[in-house]
Formats: sequence, C-alpha cells, structure tokens
Amino acid sequence: MGKRGFLVVLSGPSGVGKNTLLNAVLPTVEGLKYSVSATTRPPRPGEVHGRDYFFVSDEEFDAMLERGELLEWAEFVGRRYGTPRRYVDQCLAQGLTVILDIDIQGAAQVRAAMPEAVLVFLLPPSLEELRRRIYGRGKDPEAAIVKRLSAAKHELAAVTDYDYVIVNDDLAKARDELRAIILAERCRVSRSDYPSLIARLNQEGTNR
Ligand code: ADP
Ligand code: 5GP
Repeated sequence: MGKRGFLVVLSGPSGVGKNTLLNAVLPTVEGLKYSVSATTRPPRPGEVHGRDYFFVSDEEFDAMLERGELLEWAEFVGRRYGTPRRYVDQCLAQGLTVILDIDIQGAAQVRAAMPEAVLVFLLPPSLEELRRRIYGRGKDPEAAIVKRLSAAKHELAAVTDYDYVIVNDDLAKARDELRAIILAERCRVSRSDYPSLIARLNQEGTNR
C-alpha cells in the first residue's frame, strides 16, 4: 500500500467561484475526490442531494454531531455546514487526495486536526465583480445575498492563514494554478513513497 493521501481545503467568499473552479479541476487531476458536505440550508434550484450537498434537517445535523460523524462543522449566515468524516477517511486511507469546499471556520478546524492539510484561498478580482457574480448566479434570496456579501469582507482577512492564494479572474488560469498546487504538493518528499522505491533500487543494485 502507498502513502496516506492528504486534504486540500478550498475557501473563499460565497460567489467567488469555488464550485465552478472545482468542476473545472476535478476531471483534470487523477485521484482527486470531492467531499460532499452536509448542510441545513435548503437546496438552490438545480442542486442535487448527494451530489452538491447532503441536505439535512436540523435534527439530522444534531444527530450527526452527536454520533461524531463530522470532521469539522460551522455555522455560516444562519445555516450549519459540515464535512462527513467517513468518506474522507476512506479516501485518505486509499492514498487519494480529497478536496473540501469549506468556510474559514472549518478550515481552521482542519488545520488544527490535520496540520499537513493544504489550504488554498480563492480571491475575487474585486468586490464589485464578487457582487456581480453572486447576483448573476441568481439563486439566493436577496436577504441571503446581502448577508453573504457582508460576510465576505471579514472572510478576506483570513487569507493570511492559508498556504496558497489564487485570484479567480480568468477561470482557465485559476484551474491551472489549483492543479499545479495539488500536483506539486504530491511531490513533497514527506508525502512521497520514496523509501520503498529506494529499497527496490538498492535491491536491483545488489542483484547485478
Ligand atoms: P461559489 O461556489 O464560490 O459560491 P460559484 O462557483 O457558484 O461560487 O460561482 C458564482 C458565479 O460566478 C457563477 O454564476 C459562476 O458562473 C461565476 N463565475 C465563477 N468563476 C468565474 C470566473 N472566473 N469568471 C466569471 N464568472 C465566474
Ligand atoms: P453555500 O451555501 O454558498 O453553498 O456555502 C456557504 C459557505 O459554506 C461557503 O463558504 C462554503 O465554503 C461553506 N461550506 C460548504 N460546506 C461546508 C462544510 O462542510 N463545512 C464548512 N465549515 N463550511 C462549508
């Protein structure tokens, strides 16, 4: 069996394009898995249970918490969101890379529990463009949009706690940068399976 996999956390203000970027990157990186979160917020038009989120009631969320099923969780503009632990653990045990789209509070919990996780922050090119995107998406009620935009200003300050920052101006560029980060992180000596390769190389040497 190879080395254990690792977590990549993607955070950034609502509407910056995390979902869009993930959809662009996932098909381009082998062994990269998306962790579907649980949430108590209602689905947006077109969202599918089990693909975009596990949409649960407050009681179900409480039960998941009580059973210790969440790796991390947070309240964001009045709704709760959390990462189911089981899928992440299974993937990591198989040496896969798992990407989480979670807010800054969840990212801090992941960093504390798993210091080897890679934290990536996605920035908008401007606050005006963030506004345009969140309104352009057109899938949140006006009150939710206002709360999300006001949360954004506070969230941006958290970028200093992250390992990498990507500006989501041009989507293809942002996709290439996220892909490059993941591939480079896989090449870290601390993550690679080099001892078994070296052992094999030494074995070949003695067989000559
Ligand atoms: P998030 O997951 O961060 O809340 P979304 O992925 O839903 O954001 O994107 C919000 C809106 O911004 C969507 O309408 C999406 O098409 C648009 N968008 C995402 N990335 C870009 C980009 N690089 N340039 C222009 N529009 C973008
Ligand atoms: P949205 O409602 O726009 O899909 O997500 C709102 C915020 O919740 C985003 O910042 C998103 O990253 C975050 N989020 C989504 N899933 C999780 C999760 O499992 N845990 C935490 N902490 N945040 C999440």
